[in-house]
Amino acid sequence: RQTLPLAKKKKSAEILLDYTKPSEPFEWASQLKKTMEKVWGIKSFRLCQEGVCNANMDGRDILCVMPTGGGKSLCYQLPALLSPGTTIIISPLLSLIADQVLNLREAGVECVMLTGTTSKQEQNEAFARMTTKPGPGGRGKEIKLCYVTPEKVAKSKRLISVMEQLATSGRLARIVIDEAHCCSALGHDFRPDYKRLSVLKSLFPKVPILAVTATLSQKVLPDLLKILKLPPLCDGRAANSRGTCAFSAPLYRKNLHYKVLPKATNAKVAIQEMADWIREHHPGESGIVYCLSKKDTEVVAQGLMEASQGSIKTGVYHADVADAAKERIHRDWKRGKLHCVCATIAFGLGIDKAETRYVVHASMSKSMDGYYQETGRAGRDGARSDCVLYYRHQDASRILSLTLGETDGQSKVHDMLRYAQDITTCRNKIFGKYFASSALLSSEKGDKSPENLDSPCGHCDNCCRSSDQKQTLDMTRAVWKALKVAEAVSRAGGRVTLSGLADVVRGLAGGTFPVVQPSKAQSSETRGAVDLEALCGGKLILSKERTETLLLDLVLNGYLQEDFHATAYAVNVYVQPGPKATRYTRLASGAVDEIAASLVYEFTFLATGKSAAQSSTRATAGVKRKSTAKKGTTGDSKKRVKG
Ligand code: ADP
Ligand code: MG
Repeated sequence: RQTLPLAKKKKSAEILLDYTKPSEPFEWASQLKKTMEKVWGIKSFRLCQEGVCNANMDGRDILCVMPTGGGKSLCYQLPALLSPGTTIIISPLLSLIADQVLNLREAGVECVMLTGTTSKQEQNEAFARMTTKPGPGGRGKEIKLCYVTPEKVAKSKRLISVMEQLATSGRLARIVIDEAHCCSALGHDFRPDYKRLSVLKSLFPKVPILAVTATLSQKVLPDLLKILKLPPLCDGRAANSRGTCAFSAPLYRKNLHYKVLPKATNAKVAIQEMADWIREHHPGESGIVYCLSKKDTEVVAQGLMEASQGSIKTGVYHADVADAAKERIHRDWKRGKLHCVCATIAFGLGIDKAETRYVVHASMSKSMDGYYQETGRAGRDGARSDCVLYYRHQDASRILSLTLGETDGQSKVHDMLRYAQDITTCRNKIFGKYFASSALLSSEKGDKSPENLDSPCGHCDNCCRSSDQKQTLDMTRAVWKALKVAEAVSRAGGRVTLSGLADVVRGLAGGTFPVVQPSKAQSSETRGAVDLEALCGGKLILSKERTETLLLDLVLNGYLQEDFHATAYAVNVYVQPGPKATRYTRLASGAVDEIAASLVYEFTFLATGKSAAQSSTRATAGVKRKSTAKKGTTGDSKKRVKG
């Protein structure tokens, strides 16, 4: 885990004035409350709103991470009304901007938007208003909020020049960067124009920046600070601190119930199971089913209709659906005429239906960032909702090949796979660990969310899984065999997929495998073979399913690694020994039973029907361990070799 700019230990030595405390004598305190109630009808602050508003009024640079629907807009809209000058908000999506401007105008707030679709005349008028002194003799009321797209900032010299004029006259109140995670190519929603927002701090060093987002991973955080040229983070609460005030509300939403369900290998069966799940848990209710491709959305939508005999009314939403149809589907779904939208991630920002009872992923997302954002659309109303991921490890190579060209694509898929493969760790703790919020959370007191504490959430599938539904086995010898075989295959010029390697290790087809001969055409592929008996004392006795699950775990821990080969039609994903493989392969057979405790490879599988009854016994995949030299095990938690 990376060290973050805000060291955990470094709680601010002393907080003289606390932004988050309602009792502090900030001069603007009563005005904030009054205006909030008058303009928005809101009586009390939520999550980090009060702290952010105070730090905002105090002219600080701020980073604010709050869950979607948490109320990030108020954090800049309210202070904007009480500050002299204009606040510029950079927001990625036209529809979001239009929506906000409409709402603000209805509330009587002076605001404008400048986007690619704004007419010349409107734009001229807005610029003129911003560059002329308001008040008597001026051009009417001052514009308090000006929404712009990042493209506008990147392309419009005139906008920059207007901002410069505002800044010179001390009337550029603040620059807000909404959905700030879009700045970083390491995140899930990178937009190149956002990266160019780098110039803002250089052009306007004195103008405070507020960056807001709902998802910020450990990887993206330092990158974001660098791109926006923000000073290092400090405890957001402390008014006497220096640096960028960090505020973060817990990601944890207790009404969301996370679950990973096994996905059938047969596509038709998989869809039938999905339909059954929806009908059983959410009949007649609203939900979203996320699919990996446009084609998938159509297949799944059709399949759900058929499998439910028409009782689940589905719509399809992806980038190629005509705009009018998109709007109709969104509307029908909002009104309940459609129950379920089968969608790609195009059904995303701006989609907001409070009573979304379930978000099902027919295939996993390409990253944890994406997955969290997508599932976050469930249960905005606070009522119980389900977030279900249908997972089979066979999906891994498809997703990997899709993300091949993306920055860090492979490691993001691995993070997602770790989540999907994990059947023991509290889902909310996995999120907490993955996202930076847990590191920022030292800025929030009394936080009792699982991501920040050692206690699990108690209601995700892993928390609810009883001990007879899982089985922890000592897989050390299985791992040794698999890696020995992988090494032999690789040496012989073999090219095997994960499932192909599982077959070889399990002795299928006599331990033979395809060998690539670069000089020859694909059709003249030959086969090599390993002598399993001589190499590792015989084939591995373990089900195909479990073998593949274990091999994937080896990939995720660096014992195996992927090897990509593009053909004219597809990218094939093969596996070969990874950088850590020799830790096992250098061992002779006899040494495996005497292995150092740190190399004992325990793995927790889902108990199968048969084995469920005897789950407490520790089978050893065909081999008895002589040595019992093991580190102390803690309950049923998964013990793994790492590092
Ligand atoms: P975000 O940008 O964090 O996703 P929004 O700013 O769009 O969320 O706010 C979501 C909803 O919550 C809005 O309808 C807003 O009016 C409402 N809201 C914001 N703050 C509060 C509050 N303190 N109390 C009640 N409702 C609030
Ligand atoms: Mg928002």
